[in-house]
Amino acid sequence: MDYLVLVDKFNPVDIKLYNSLELTEVQGKLVEVQAGRQLRMLLSRAQEEGIRLKIISAYRSFDYQQMLWEREVSREMWSGLDYDSAIAKVARTLALPGSSEHNTGLAVDIGCEGDNDVSDDFYRTKESRWLCAHAAQYGFILRYPRLKEQITGIDFEPWHYRYVGSEAAKLISDGGLCLEEFLHFYSEKYI
Ligand SMILES: [Zn+2]
Repeated sequence: MDYLVLVDKFNPVDIKLYNSLELTEVQGKLVEVQAGRQLRMLLSRAQEEGIRLKIISAYRSFDYQQMLWEREVSREMWSGLDYDSAIAKVARTLALPGSSEHNTGLAVDIGCEGDNDVSDDFYRTKESRWLCAHAAQYGFILRYPRLKEQITGIDFEPWHYRYVGSEAAKLISDGGLCLEEFLHFYSEKYI
């Protein structure tokens, strides 16, 4: 498994990688095995420190991503947008099937205990601050940070964490980078 794999609308998930994914369950959600092991450790450390985090979404099959995509586009059209505007709006926070990190099992959307959906306000919570400070130690990064929207092509998502391995996560987090910048600056060593 390539834990530094770049997945976005220009770089869809490789079908061989998708078909060979090994998944494990964490809080009843599917996650890639190594990412899952690290995630369990992260969650139990959080719990020891009185922080209760909930995995809201993790691995998604291509079919499931397609269903989410169609549902969101129709929702926007019902609220009055034409097809092209609906697609443009949905594309800011939801990837097309095959272009989502959730298709790799390496991405998890996280919220507070009791949350049923991701929230823009998650960043204000103590749970989010704790997660931001400790995720890298377990190999996870905040994948779509604020002020990096132009590079990632995705709006700030305080809930979306991505497993990249501890070494890369530390460099990314200490350097204030996003994954694209890391791959660019460190490509000789890592690719
Ligand atoms: Zn996500």
